[in-house]
Amino acid sequence: MRGSFRLGNVFGIEIDINYTWLIVFVLVTWSLAAGFFPQEFPGWPISTYWLVGVIASLLLFASVLLHELAHSLVAQREGLPITNITLFIFGGVSNIQREPTNPKDEFRMAFVGPLSSIFIGVFTWVLLVIFGSVNVQLQAVLLYLTIINLMLAAFNLIPAFPLDGGRVFRSIVWWATHSLTRATRIASAVGQGFGYLIIFVGLLLLFTGNFLGGVWLVLIGWFLTYAAESSYRQLVVQETLRGIPVRDMMAQDVPTVTPNVTVRELVDRYILPRNIRALPVVHDSQLVGMVTLSDVQHVSQEEWDTTDVGRIMTPRERLHALAPQDDAVQALEAMGEQDVNQLPVVSDGKVVGLVTRGHIIRLLQVRQDLGARR
Ligand SMILES: [Zn+2]
Repeated sequence: MRGSFRLGNVFGIEIDINYTWLIVFVLVTWSLAAGFFPQEFPGWPISTYWLVGVIASLLLFASVLLHELAHSLVAQREGLPITNITLFIFGGVSNIQREPTNPKDEFRMAFVGPLSSIFIGVFTWVLLVIFGSVNVQLQAVLLYLTIINLMLAAFNLIPAFPLDGGRVFRSIVWWATHSLTRATRIASAVGQGFGYLIIFVGLLLLFTGNFLGGVWLVLIGWFLTYAAESSYRQLVVQETLRGIPVRDMMAQDVPTVTPNVTVRELVDRYILPRNIRALPVVHDSQLVGMVTLSDVQHVSQEEWDTTDVGRIMTPRERLHALAPQDDAVQALEAMGEQDVNQLPVVSDGKVVGLVTRGHIIRLLQVRQDLGARR
């Protein structure tokens, strides 16, 4: 997700925080310090309300993180690669690179999220019962965590795809119909329905005086509708692209460059005259790396004559090259994992072509215009 910073690494999973999360953090802290706590626990100094508000917000953040970690760890155990967990304005999202291959895996992966929220809620409730009388601030934080985690579980169990409950629902339809496409179409339609319903309730709240709550629900409903629709579209794209080898769409006879060429030569002889953004780097007719326009942009112009391509390229070891028989879905996944727009196609160590996102999009447009969905 754009505009994120890295918080750390747990079990090899990167934890990112999107800047939009900070908005929620401020809103939650404010609503606790100026609303929930003063109402439920009157008589504290204002600074105490804010301090306890910040602590409770941070613990809510930890709860959401645990919920996402549960998803990610189950996915990892099922062999699905996880790149990261991002916390953003609407909560958390686990970035799982592939869809599960069977309904049981999907069921487990989805259900463990709400289950972990219920578990945390019950756990903090037990702490509340045992330690609640020790300190009133502790009691307030534990009460809030119990309520919010049980609410999180309830919200996530709504059968609105792509919420967890919607994924559980999809896995059951998938299991019954043996078709992921059909199950996704049904689940995404139900998800969109719930999205519109939430928008409608939000508008009702908005016009009956609860402005903030109303706006919030409208935003969540809109996001849900959008997510449901785009997950289905994504699946259709994958179905269309699956099995089409990259050799059918790649550019052939791509210009290559050697690692000892200077950056100035690279710009003057390759990039500018041919108007290209990326070149495979080749030595003794073997692929040794890839150099792109953004690599060049990282070098100041004064150093163009003294820096050679070998120093600024992405070396072969860190480069995912494709084989001619790899399909377009694999190509898109590899580009996504590396956050690049093109990849070299290699056979016996030799560059035989180059595939860009543009090639895949063009292929997709042609197929969809022809109605030739597979
Ligand atoms: Zn979840």
